[in-house]
Amino acid sequence: MNIVSSKFEISNSDVNKCPAGCRHEYAFIGRSNVGKSSLINMLTRHKGLAMTSSTPGKTTLINHFLINDEWYIVDLPGYGYAQRGKEMQRKIRKIIEDYILERGQMTNLFLLIDSRHEPQKIDLEFMEWLGENAVPFSIVFTKLDKMSSNAAKIVTGKYLETLKEQWEELPPVFYTSSANGRGREELLDYIEELNKLPLNCE
Ligand code: GDP
Repeated sequence: MNIVSSKFEISNSDVNKCPAGCRHEYAFIGRSNVGKSSLINMLTRHKGLAMTSSTPGKTTLINHFLINDEWYIVDLPGYGYAQRGKEMQRKIRKIIEDYILERGQMTNLFLLIDSRHEPQKIDLEFMEWLGENAVPFSIVFTKLDKMSSNAAKIVTGKYLETLKEQWEELPPVFYTSSANGRGREELLDYIEELNKLPLNCE
């Protein structure tokens, strides 16, 4: 799929204030620093579209970006920032959960995992919650350029083995690097296919 336009539309903390209308949307989520903003900017080839985690405020909100005047990329708040404090973490968790459970337009959630890291409890628990709630999601390994292709194969393979202990069937898996554009075509082709599905807000 070609991306001919990408523009920021709205940030908010309330699923009910997300854009009206019935367009497909794809949410991106992961722990702080996983490479979420970089991936969104890489996919859209729009530098600075998604704000990096160093931008105060933005990372606690639901951010909608309209793509090709047709569908949305949604940048969700990162989870698991210990430095945020319990009350703030609880609030953000609620924003994320309300969005995921109530937003009929959300066609797929892309869960970003830093390919260099061992499976983290918080990610595994989040996936479990997604499974329990029948949320369609995919796994996106990020920062693949940081390892040799052999090392990447071993580490991500191990990760998926861990998941298989918990899951009968794995969700779709993507291997990406914002530094060299790896995975861009695969992700956009996948979205293009999903854009053909009917929406339950129609
Ligand atoms: P966010 O907090 O998940 O939005 O993460 P950012 O996109 O702000 O990225 C966090 C850090 O990782 C930044 O220093 C990025 O430059 C770096 N980074 C993100 N993606 C990649 C990648 O694919 N390759 C490399 N080498 N660095 C990356």
